[in-house]
Amino acid sequence: MLPRFWRKIKYRYDLVGSYCENCGRSFYPPRNVCPNCRRKSNIREIRFGDCGKVISYSVVHDSENTRMRKPYIVAMIKLDDGPVITSQLVCSPDEVQTGMRVRKVFRKYGEEGESGIIYYGTKFVPADSE
Ligand SMILES: [Zn+2]
Repeated sequence: MLPRFWRKIKYRYDLVGSYCENCGRSFYPPRNVCPNCRRKSNIREIRFGDCGKVISYSVVHDSENTRMRKPYIVAMIKLDDGPVITSQLVCSPDEVQTGMRVRKVFRKYGEEGESGIIYYGTKFVPADSE
């Protein structure tokens, strides 16, 4: 069960990227021109689903970012809808493994990392966690 407030603001935190109607590829972050078709591309907005799997990760023990509790995990996540994104993964470093299922969760506004690798207030947790 999701708290009601979470449902209400869900839209704002959805992952929105670009979909090329010419070649059927999708991209994140959004682009104006498809890197595959270039000028022939016909781009529209697409909202990705919440689930994907970890294809690689690193555990960060030390960084300039004093607002992040350490260690934390930065993972490359392949969304079920296609694109690969980089995001914080919230779980124990002992727990994370390549191929594990993850899902996107709400991230408190105003806590984005300064490193540029955490997008749009989004982070991920293991898919089977509460
Ligand atoms: Zn294309």
